Amino acid sequence: MIRKIEEAGKFFIPEDYMRELMWYEGDNIEVFMDFRNSELVLKKLTPSCIFCDSAGRLVRIGRVCACRRCIERLHIAADGDFLYPI
Ligand SMILES: [Zn+2]
Repeated sequence: MIRKIEEAGKFFIPEDYMRELMWYEGDNIEVFMDFRNSELVLKKLTPSCIFCDSAGRLVRIGRVCACRRCIERLHIAADGDFLYPI
């Protein structure tokens, strides 16, 4: 697929690529040069739990993620509990 670079270096990632990669509007993307191959590389930052920063057992909640452990802690929390920091 060929895309033209627009004003100020903008270009659009094809919607089907976004869907296949599970990239969503608002995700943080790391952009870096591969000088050896003269390529520009886009890499989605590894998602992590919004509460504890863990990268394991994540559940996506809109634009953020929470790990199972935090979800379980929230599930059993009572009014007034203080859960964080862990
Ligand atoms: Zn967590």
